[in-house]
Amino acid sequence: MAMSACEQVDSAIVNRNMPKSIKITISKANLTIIQGDITQQATEAIVNAANSSLMGGGGVDKAIHRAGGPAILAECKQIVTRQGPLPPGQAVITTGGNLKAKFVIHTVGPVWHGGNRAEAEILKSAYQQSLKLAAENHLTSISFPSISTGAYGYPVDEAAIVALRAVASFLQKTTSIREVVFVLFDSRTYDTYAAALENLTGEAEIG
Ligand code: ADP
Repeated sequence: MAMSACEQVDSAIVNRNMPKSIKITISKANLTIIQGDITQQATEAIVNAANSSLMGGGGVDKAIHRAGGPAILAECKQIVTRQGPLPPGQAVITTGGNLKAKFVIHTVGPVWHGGNRAEAEILKSAYQQSLKLAAENHLTSISFPSISTGAYGYPVDEAAIVALRAVASFLQKTTSIREVVFVLFDSRTYDTYAAALENLTGEAEIG
Protein backbone atom coordinates (compact mmCIF):
# COMPACT_ATOMS: atom_id res chain seq x y z
CA MET A 1 0.00 0.00 0.00
CA ALA A 2 1.21 3.52 -0.76
CA MET A 3 1.52 4.85 2.75
CA SER A 4 4.03 7.32 4.08
CA ALA A 5 6.19 6.49 7.06
CA CYS A 6 4.41 6.70 10.36
CA GLU A 7 4.76 10.14 11.91
CA GLN A 8 4.70 9.93 15.68
CA VAL A 9 3.46 13.36 16.75
CA ASP A 10 3.39 12.78 20.48
CA SER A 11 6.37 12.75 22.72
CA ALA A 12 6.21 12.14 26.44
CA ILE A 13 9.69 13.64 26.72
CA VAL A 14 8.84 16.91 24.96
CA ASN A 15 5.51 17.51 26.67
CA ARG A 16 3.56 15.12 28.82
CA ASN A 17 0.32 17.07 28.32
CA MET A 18 0.48 17.28 24.56
CA PRO A 19 -2.40 15.32 23.00
CA LYS A 20 -1.33 12.00 21.55
CA SER A 21 -1.73 11.50 17.83
CA ILE A 22 -0.25 9.70 14.85
CA LYS A 23 -0.81 10.76 11.24
CA ILE A 24 -0.07 8.90 8.02
CA THR A 25 -0.86 9.64 4.40
CA ILE A 26 -2.66 7.14 2.19
CA SER A 27 -3.04 8.15 -1.44
CA LYS A 28 -4.65 11.65 -1.30
CA ALA A 29 -5.90 11.38 2.30
CA ASN A 30 -4.59 11.75 5.83
CA LEU A 31 -5.39 9.05 8.36
CA THR A 32 -4.96 10.21 11.94
CA ILE A 33 -5.49 8.51 15.27
CA ILE A 34 -6.02 10.64 18.35
CA GLN A 35 -7.20 10.10 21.88
CA GLY A 36 -10.34 12.12 22.60
CA ASP A 37 -14.10 12.59 22.59
CA ILE A 38 -15.68 12.18 19.15
CA THR A 39 -18.56 14.56 20.00
CA GLN A 40 -16.02 17.43 19.96
CA GLN A 41 -14.70 16.65 16.47
CA ALA A 42 -15.08 19.24 13.71
CA THR A 43 -14.86 16.82 10.76
CA GLU A 44 -17.84 17.09 8.41
CA ALA A 45 -19.20 13.78 9.68
CA ILE A 46 -18.71 11.73 12.82
CA VAL A 47 -19.62 8.05 12.92
CA ASN A 48 -21.86 6.63 15.62
CA ALA A 49 -21.44 3.03 16.81
CA ALA A 50 -25.22 2.60 17.02
CA ASN A 51 -27.41 -0.45 17.52
CA SER A 52 -29.93 -1.71 14.97
CA SER A 53 -32.87 0.10 16.57
CA LEU A 54 -31.20 3.50 16.01
CA MET A 55 -33.04 4.63 19.14
CA GLY A 56 -29.89 5.52 21.09
CA GLY A 57 -28.02 3.35 23.55
CA GLY A 58 -25.00 3.62 25.81
CA GLY A 59 -21.36 4.51 25.23
CA VAL A 60 -20.55 6.67 22.24
CA ASP A 61 -24.17 6.48 20.99
CA LYS A 62 -25.43 8.09 24.18
CA ALA A 63 -22.70 10.75 24.09
CA ILE A 64 -23.52 11.69 20.47
CA HIS A 65 -27.29 11.99 21.06
CA ARG A 66 -26.69 13.98 24.24
CA ALA A 67 -24.32 16.42 22.56
CA GLY A 68 -26.21 16.64 19.24
CA GLY A 69 -29.73 17.07 20.61
CA PRO A 70 -33.15 15.70 19.57
CA ALA A 71 -32.90 16.37 15.81
CA ILE A 72 -30.64 13.32 15.40
CA LEU A 73 -33.09 10.93 17.07
CA ALA A 74 -36.00 12.40 15.11
CA GLU A 75 -34.23 11.57 11.83
CA CYS A 76 -33.24 8.12 13.09
CA LYS A 77 -36.92 7.39 13.83
CA GLN A 78 -37.90 8.43 10.31
CA ILE A 79 -35.25 6.14 8.84
CA VAL A 80 -36.43 3.14 10.88
CA THR A 81 -40.05 3.84 9.95
CA ARG A 82 -39.03 3.92 6.30
CA GLN A 83 -36.60 0.98 6.11
CA GLY A 84 -36.76 -0.94 9.41
CA PRO A 85 -33.89 -1.65 11.80
CA LEU A 86 -30.37 -1.10 10.47
CA PRO A 87 -28.59 -4.43 9.85
CA PRO A 88 -25.04 -4.84 11.24
CA GLY A 89 -22.43 -3.70 8.70
CA GLN A 90 -24.75 -1.10 7.09
CA ALA A 91 -24.80 2.70 7.54
CA VAL A 92 -27.22 5.64 7.34
CA ILE A 93 -26.71 9.42 7.55
CA THR A 94 -28.53 12.09 9.59
CA THR A 95 -27.98 15.67 10.58
CA GLY A 96 -25.37 16.42 13.21
CA GLY A 97 -27.88 18.61 15.08
CA ASN A 98 -25.99 20.80 17.55
CA LEU A 99 -22.66 19.07 16.96
CA LYS A 100 -19.71 20.74 15.26
CA ALA A 101 -19.96 17.94 12.68
CA LYS A 102 -22.68 18.65 10.12
CA PHE A 103 -23.61 14.96 9.80
CA VAL A 104 -23.72 11.80 11.88
CA ILE A 105 -23.25 8.52 10.05
CA HIS A 106 -24.82 5.73 12.07
CA THR A 107 -23.47 2.24 11.62
CA VAL A 108 -23.91 -1.01 13.51
CA GLY A 109 -20.88 -3.14 14.31
CA PRO A 110 -20.96 -6.86 15.10
CA VAL A 111 -21.52 -8.25 18.59
CA TRP A 112 -18.45 -10.36 19.40
CA HIS A 113 -19.31 -14.08 19.69
CA GLY A 114 -15.77 -15.48 19.61
CA GLY A 115 -14.79 -14.64 16.03
CA ASN A 116 -16.55 -17.35 13.99
CA ARG A 117 -19.73 -15.47 13.19
CA ALA A 118 -18.38 -13.22 10.45
CA GLU A 119 -17.50 -10.56 13.00
CA ALA A 120 -14.44 -9.34 11.04
CA GLU A 121 -16.38 -9.06 7.76
CA ILE A 122 -19.23 -7.20 9.44
CA LEU A 123 -16.82 -4.82 11.18
CA LYS A 124 -14.99 -4.16 7.89
CA SER A 125 -18.31 -3.49 6.21
CA ALA A 126 -19.38 -1.04 8.96
CA TYR A 127 -16.28 1.08 8.25
CA GLN A 128 -16.47 0.79 4.48
CA GLN A 129 -20.22 1.45 4.20
CA SER A 130 -19.76 4.54 6.41
CA LEU A 131 -16.99 5.81 4.14
CA LYS A 132 -19.01 5.01 1.03
CA LEU A 133 -21.96 6.99 2.37
CA ALA A 134 -19.68 9.93 3.22
CA ALA A 135 -18.22 9.87 -0.30
CA GLU A 136 -21.69 9.63 -1.88
CA ASN A 137 -22.53 12.83 0.02
CA HIS A 138 -19.31 14.47 -1.27
CA LEU A 139 -17.88 14.81 2.24
CA THR A 140 -14.15 15.32 2.68
CA SER A 141 -13.61 14.50 6.37
CA ILE A 142 -14.95 11.91 8.78
CA SER A 143 -14.20 10.69 12.32
CA PHE A 144 -14.68 7.15 13.65
CA PRO A 145 -14.86 5.75 17.15
CA SER A 146 -13.58 2.23 17.84
CA ILE A 147 -16.72 0.42 16.63
CA SER A 148 -17.80 -2.72 18.56
CA THR A 149 -15.04 -2.64 21.19
CA GLY A 150 -17.23 -1.34 24.02
CA ALA A 151 -20.55 -2.99 24.90
CA TYR A 152 -20.28 -5.27 21.83
CA GLY A 153 -17.13 -6.89 23.25
CA TYR A 154 -14.87 -7.10 20.17
CA PRO A 155 -11.23 -7.49 21.34
CA VAL A 156 -9.54 -4.14 20.72
CA ASP A 157 -6.31 -5.55 19.24
CA GLU A 158 -8.23 -7.51 16.59
CA ALA A 159 -10.72 -4.72 15.94
CA ALA A 160 -7.90 -2.18 15.44
CA ILE A 161 -6.36 -4.23 12.64
CA VAL A 162 -9.70 -4.73 10.87
CA ALA A 163 -10.62 -1.05 11.27
CA LEU A 164 -7.32 0.37 10.01
CA ARG A 165 -7.11 -2.07 7.09
CA ALA A 166 -10.72 -1.33 6.08
CA VAL A 167 -10.07 2.42 6.03
CA ALA A 168 -6.66 2.09 4.35
CA SER A 169 -8.10 -0.07 1.59
CA PHE A 170 -11.02 2.34 1.01
CA LEU A 171 -8.61 5.29 0.77
CA GLN A 172 -6.78 3.62 -2.14
CA LYS A 173 -9.84 4.48 -4.25
CA THR A 174 -10.41 7.94 -5.72
CA THR A 175 -13.15 9.55 -3.60
CA SER A 176 -13.89 12.93 -2.00
CA ILE A 177 -12.48 11.78 1.36
CA ARG A 178 -9.29 13.61 2.35
CA GLU A 179 -9.26 13.15 6.13
CA VAL A 180 -10.14 10.18 8.32
CA VAL A 181 -9.70 10.48 12.09
CA PHE A 182 -9.99 7.67 14.62
CA VAL A 183 -11.04 9.26 17.91
CA LEU A 184 -10.17 6.80 20.66
CA PHE A 185 -11.67 7.46 24.03
CA ASP A 186 -9.26 5.82 26.45
CA SER A 187 -5.50 5.43 26.43
CA ARG A 188 -5.57 1.62 26.23
CA THR A 189 -7.63 1.79 23.03
CA TYR A 190 -5.41 4.56 21.66
CA ASP A 191 -2.22 2.59 22.41
CA THR A 192 -3.65 -0.54 20.79
CA TYR A 193 -4.58 1.35 17.59
CA ALA A 194 -1.14 3.04 17.61
CA ALA A 195 0.58 -0.34 17.71
CA ALA A 196 -1.69 -1.73 14.95
CA LEU A 197 -1.02 1.33 12.78
CA GLU A 198 2.72 0.98 13.23
CA ASN A 199 2.48 -2.70 12.20
CA LEU A 200 0.38 -1.79 9.19
CA THR A 201 2.76 0.91 7.95
CA GLY A 202 5.69 -1.46 8.56
CA GLU A 203 3.92 -4.03 6.38
CA ALA A 204 3.23 -1.36 3.76
CA GLU A 205 6.91 -0.42 3.58
CA ILE A 206 7.93 -4.05 3.17
CA GLY A 207 5.12 -4.85 0.73
P1 ADP B 1 -20.21 -0.77 20.72
O1 ADP B 1 -21.59 -1.11 21.18
O2 ADP B 1 -20.09 -0.71 19.19
O3 ADP B 1 -19.17 -1.65 21.35
P2 ADP B 1 -19.62 1.45 22.56
O4 ADP B 1 -20.13 2.84 22.49
O5 ADP B 1 -20.02 0.61 23.73
O6 ADP B 1 -19.99 0.75 21.15
O7 ADP B 1 -18.03 1.48 22.52
C1 ADP B 1 -17.26 1.75 21.37
C2 ADP B 1 -16.05 2.57 21.75
O8 ADP B 1 -16.44 3.95 21.87
C3 ADP B 1 -15.39 2.21 23.07
O9 ADP B 1 -13.97 2.21 22.91
C4 ADP B 1 -15.81 3.36 23.99
O10 ADP B 1 -14.85 3.60 25.01
C5 ADP B 1 -15.80 4.49 23.00
N1 ADP B 1 -16.47 5.74 23.39
C6 ADP B 1 -17.40 5.99 24.35
N2 ADP B 1 -17.72 7.30 24.37
C7 ADP B 1 -16.96 7.90 23.41
C8 ADP B 1 -16.80 9.25 22.96
N3 ADP B 1 -17.51 10.26 23.49
N4 ADP B 1 -15.91 9.49 21.94
C9 ADP B 1 -15.20 8.49 21.38
N5 ADP B 1 -15.32 7.20 21.76
C10 ADP B 1 -16.18 6.92 22.77
